Amino acid sequence: MLNRNRSLRRAAENISEEITPAPGETKAARFKTWLAEKLAVPRYCATHPHTRLVFERSDKGGIFKVYEELRYGYDPHERPGVFDFRAALRCPACRCAYALCPPESHTTSFETFDTSTPERANALARCREFAAQVNTQRCGFALLVGKSGNGKTRLACNVVSELDNGDALYVRQGQLTLALRATYGRKDVFLHRRHDEAGDDEPPTPLEIVQVVRFLVLDEIGCKSLANDELLFFDELLKHRYDEQKPTILISNLALDQLKEFLGDALTDRIKHATGNGKFILQFEGDSYRRTTGENYLEGLR
Ligand SMILES: [Zn+2]
Repeated sequence: MLNRNRSLRRAAENISEEITPAPGETKAARFKTWLAEKLAVPRYCATHPHTRLVFERSDKGGIFKVYEELRYGYDPHERPGVFDFRAALRCPACRCAYALCPPESHTTSFETFDTSTPERANALARCREFAAQVNTQRCGFALLVGKSGNGKTRLACNVVSELDNGDALYVRQGQLTLALRATYGRKDVFLHRRHDEAGDDEPPTPLEIVQVVRFLVLDEIGCKSLANDELLFFDELLKHRYDEQKPTILISNLALDQLKEFLGDALTDRIKHATGNGKFILQFEGDSYRRTTGENYLEGLR
């Protein structure tokens, strides 16, 4: 249920070229212009033919490194001043598919988000800011609350597609409950099992999966009241991600006051703190956007 397809995380395309910078031109400056030239020609994903590939920026924890380097001294083809420029390109839609985002969000982006009301324009701006914050600081929570059908899930998935680090996971609270309860027959699973207590061949527990992942989107929080085992799971998860400063988006259809009641004071305080004292708490009050675009659903996924 929480298994991701690792093949979707590979670079969609790798480009490389030997380049000789002009006299006085720095290696870094030439790399930038070289990359801009390469990206000026649109390149598309084989799986998502309408989604343009983007530069896979370097990230410490990422799989792909983007770099410029002097050819190695032992290379028989070495020529002084010649640089081996390389760049990996990734597909934003594949990034969302890897994270298990809902399919209808895969090929959407910040650029195509409807900003016809000030509330929606503000939500978009904040989500862009949050994505940039995660890319630079690698921490922070965002909380998206309010009426359903206003694009909360879609914006969260758009954040996922912008991240430099591809280790992201989207999950609904109900899925977590099902995953948790599916382990009840497994004798080896304990809620608090530590990593070093698990054998190599034992699959991670649902709690470990959502604790360990670099970026988590947890949707549909508070749809229904939680049983004791769900409460414990949820509490452990959020405390862990707060304590470890792991970036997280929380989404709920509840109004903010109702959600505070659902979470309790301790978790509410942590979340408020992790959102920059409310900077990344977005409340959606408008009418459902989904209601006015229903006919698009019948046209299928694009
Ligand atoms: Zn793709």
